[in-house]
Amino acid sequence: MNAALENKPLKVLVVGGGIGGMSAAITMRGIGASVELVDIDPSWGVSGAGITITGPTLRAFKQLGVLDEIMANAYTGNGIRVCDVEGRTLQELDTPMPPEAGVPGSGGFTRPGLHRILAKRVREAGVEVRLSVTVDGFHERRDGVDVAFSDGRTGHYDLVVGADGVWSRVRELIFPAAPTPEYTGQNSWRVTLERSPEIDRRHYYLGGPLKVGFTPVSDQQMYLFVLEKSPKVWRQKTGLHEPLAALLKDYGGMVGKVRDGLNEASEIVFRPLEGFFLPPPWHCGHVLLIGDAAHPTTPQLASGAGMAVEDALVLAEEVARAASVPEALLAFMARREERCRLIVESSIEIGRLEQARAPVAEQTAVVQRALQILAAPI
Ligand SMILES: Cc1cc2nc3c(=O)[nH]c(=O)nc-3n(C[C@H](O)[C@H](O)[C@H](O)COP(=O)(O)OP(=O)(O)OC[C@H]3O[C@@H](n4cnc5c(N)ncnc54)[C@H](O)[C@@H]3O)c2cc1C
Repeated sequence: MNAALENKPLKVLVVGGGIGGMSAAITMRGIGASVELVDIDPSWGVSGAGITITGPTLRAFKQLGVLDEIMANAYTGNGIRVCDVEGRTLQELDTPMPPEAGVPGSGGFTRPGLHRILAKRVREAGVEVRLSVTVDGFHERRDGVDVAFSDGRTGHYDLVVGADGVWSRVRELIFPAAPTPEYTGQNSWRVTLERSPEIDRRHYYLGGPLKVGFTPVSDQQMYLFVLEKSPKVWRQKTGLHEPLAALLKDYGGMVGKVRDGLNEASEIVFRPLEGFFLPPPWHCGHVLLIGDAAHPTTPQLASGAGMAVEDALVLAEEVARAASVPEALLAFMARREERCRLIVESSIEIGRLEQARAPVAEQTAVVQRALQILAAPI
């Protein structure tokens, strides 16, 4: 174990209490660090329908110690059924995980359900959580970093973990000239629905003008996702059922049934897709970016959450074995760069193929190749 940790607990600040920040708070407590977490959101909530979980993401949850609780509440299974716009099966994709991983190859969960499980673990681990707070500035010192908070407080930390998402304030502070996320040309729609027995696994409907699919998230619920090519970013929040139904006009089968049932009460979440890969390193002095703050990805491989959790696992492992925080951050980068780049670049590539209406087999080949590489140990 790190000499610094043996003598006095490492003092860690996590900025952002999403999937990555909560995971980092849990893993850093796990190696004996004292951890504070700040989140700008006063309610520390989460919006959004469901989330698709891959086998590697389930493996990361297992290592984090939350797999059983997730599996008790979520959908888990194997495989993805690829259909045409009428709902006829074209292909069954396997989602294999090595048996030693001890997890299914695929799954889905509600975002609020996942948030509740992680937030409970954060509290139980003894993390000090402060809400409605962000960071205003950093001042690097030889032995750590001084932090100025938006509520007027200040603090000194051995390590700051910036996990404040795609529009990261921490990233802006430490890398003011860094590129910022760009609209990728697609909008995402998600609708929470009662689960149909027909949707016994994840489904994709390819070959049409959109990418459409279903992910079960529990025994009772599933969500519909739609990726739409659009030259413009629009951020309409209400009256979404009509434009969504119009988009789905050519679809039959289960998608057509769902379209016909859309109304003003439908729970629809709309978001333009933004992605980029921050050129490494993702750290400056004693401040590190993880999750979407460093490698926000579009959802084509459903791996953004998994990458954020993996970041947290690898960070704690490297801090526990390194002689100093800067040394740990270098080791972290060496393990994370290539894997996260694969996810971001492959997701954007699949998005491009979708927009170009490339043959279904070409799209699924990129998905399968990436999933196979991701199944390798982290
Ligand atoms: C449409 C869409 C669908 C997706 N679907 C999937 C999917 O099915 N499966 C999957 O694995 N991934 C999916 N992703 C990606 C996934 O949501 C993200 O990769 C994941 O949430 C990243 O976690 P994070 O903790 O880094 O960031 P976030 O989850 O964004 O959390 C950031 C946290 O920081 C807080 N915060 C923000 N600004 C500040 C600040 N200035 N100061 C303090 N706190 C701040 C926020 O309140 C929030 O709590 C999807 C993404 C999109 C856009």
